[in-house]
Amino acid sequence: MRLHTKQVGKNLYMVELETGGFEHLICSYIITGEHPFLVESGPTSSVPRLLAGLDELNIPFEDVQYIAVTHVHLDHAGGAGTLLKSLPNAKVIVHPRGAPHLADPERLWPSSQSVLGFISGIFGKPEPIPKELLIPMTQGSFDLGDGAKLDVIETVGHASHNLSFYESFNGGVFPGDAAGTYLQTFDVIVPTTPPPFHLEAALTSLDRLISLAPTVLYFSHFGKATEAVKRLKDYKIQLQLWADIAQDGVRKNQSLEQIRDRIIAEDKVMNSIIDFVRSHRIYSKTMLENCVLGFIEYAKQK
Ligand SMILES: [Zn+2]
Repeated sequence: MRLHTKQVGKNLYMVELETGGFEHLICSYIITGEHPFLVESGPTSSVPRLLAGLDELNIPFEDVQYIAVTHVHLDHAGGAGTLLKSLPNAKVIVHPRGAPHLADPERLWPSSQSVLGFISGIFGKPEPIPKELLIPMTQGSFDLGDGAKLDVIETVGHASHNLSFYESFNGGVFPGDAAGTYLQTFDVIVPTTPPPFHLEAALTSLDRLISLAPTVLYFSHFGKATEAVKRLKDYKIQLQLWADIAQDGVRKNQSLEQIRDRIIAEDKVMNSIIDFVRSHRIYSKTMLENCVLGFIEYAKQK
């Protein structure tokens, strides 16, 4: 029986990282085949879990050549430095704007602590990555073997350093946080837009992903979702709704709480899951505070 990994496509496995004991919060992906590939290192505290996933799939650590990280936030790439210590032949694919933070996490760590509070402790402190092990890029392609490839696509907005990856085994996209947080139990997507969030860039990135006509999305939070194009289009509409409410709220000098309550009242998705979100130790902070704040700060700049 597989304990840590679950097959989610041809040559593709999801690893449930169970960070801090939270299920369905963060996952990494392993692409198997001639050239095994990792997507997302996950946070530092979850590295043993990811290595256990490789073990379970009988992939020798020295066979892994690439770890592609969608962006340098702790939950996606924080563990990359620690992970590399166990993967002697691996390099890290990262956006050029994120690369310096992986090489020297000393600035990223305190800023993550201030944005995330207690959650940063659950993720753990990142270890630095030697510069020669970083591959900074915004576009390009990697051979996965068996005629398949992995394409790098720049999808900024959630962060100025967000990449997505398209894999041709299944025609799926790893959006990182460019397409929101997927709550599999409810089959809904919620915006993930902590400051500094850039709406126009996020919408342009979503158009870029839609133009690839992917069949599935592999969310880092959390899992595989079908009907990819419909979800990406719906997410654009949802972002615009939150932005409109935030902009109107800022104009009327409303508080974060007032704007948040309007979002909950007017966004059908948020409305349908609000009890769950309020009772969740992490989502109650990230979704109901940080993500609303991202829209408010963006509206204030406009
Ligand atoms: Zn994230």
